[in-house]
Amino acid sequence: MAIERTFSIIKPDATRRNLTGAINAVIEKAGLRIVAQKRVQWGPAQAEAFYGVHKERPFFKDLVSFMMSGPIVVQVLEGENAVAKYREVMGATNPANAAPGTIRKEFAESIEANSVHGSDSVDNAKIEIGQNFAGFEIVG
Ligand code: GDP
Repeated sequence: MAIERTFSIIKPDATRRNLTGAINAVIEKAGLRIVAQKRVQWGPAQAEAFYGVHKERPFFKDLVSFMMSGPIVVQVLEGENAVAKYREVMGATNPANAAPGTIRKEFAESIEANSVHGSDSVDNAKIEIGQNFAGFEIVG
């Protein structure tokens, strides 16, 4: 299996409840290595650009406001099959449908405030990492 990198966000609902360390523990226990990490707060430019793919969806405005509502922690995770593995560790978008032991089952508040983001493909991971990190900030 290939060593991949994926892009992760610990969302405002989780930073507000002081869950960064608890979520990082789940990530590391799954065998993923946090090779870049920073705490930031997005404005409209970053949030709208990042979720541009959802701009026709009815929840777009709410999602953008939510993602600007507090600090987030952006990360690059590295490991075997990292993209698919992190999607598995995160659990389903709606925490009501997420499997036991997943981050969203354990921590998410709602389908919107669902604690984490993870890239859905290797190509999108590359784009999202490039939007959020300079090369020198990623240390494998
Ligand atoms: P993900 O890949 O599992 O994060 O899911 P999507 O790419 O489909 O959606 C992106 C994000 O939009 C989700 O993580 C949620 O924060 C939010 N979202 C998705 N579906 C809904 C919805 O039906 N209502 C609201 N308010 N937010 C949603």
